[in-house]
Amino acid sequence: MAGNTTLTIIKPDAFGAGKAGKIVALLEEKGFTIKAARVMQLTKAQAGEFYAIHRERPFYAELVQFMTSGPCMPMVLEKASAVSALRDAIGATDPAEAAAGTVRKLYAESKGRNAIHASDSDENAQREARFFFAETELLWG
Ligand code: ATP
Ligand code: MG
Repeated sequence: MAGNTTLTIIKPDAFGAGKAGKIVALLEEKGFTIKAARVMQLTKAQAGEFYAIHRERPFYAELVQFMTSGPCMPMVLEKASAVSALRDAIGATDPAEAAAGTVRKLYAESKGRNAIHASDSDENAQREARFFFAETELLWG
């Protein structure tokens, strides 16, 4: 799957606001195909592990609190150069800096509550896909 798939999460702010359908539609219009999807509420242990790279950052506790605050929607998406294509589609971390038409410009409230996650490398995309989906769920034709 290297190169053509990435992992996204519609975060609790956007999911709770009923924006999941609009975000999925936007991503499909940009050429992404959904290869796996689920709806779940992360435990503190899961959110902490998922964002472990940020453990020492001052916003880590707030990030874990936010990501566990309600249901979210992890998905594996497929497209050529999926990681960079999805980073382009979601926009900058801070919606105030996000380009017009991006998911974060349209749906994010703030740098912390920013609607959507996207993997930042092919290696992390594979690791994150396996974090949310069983091996059997990742065996597509
Ligand atoms: P993500 O990993 O969720 O796709 P990102 O790659 O754009 O976001 P990161 O630097 O990896 O940004 O930060 C992870 C998440 O931590 C951000 O999406 C945001 O929710 C939160 N975050 C980052 N910086 C801040 C900050 N200064 N204040 C509050 N929350 C922050
Ligand atoms: Mg990141």
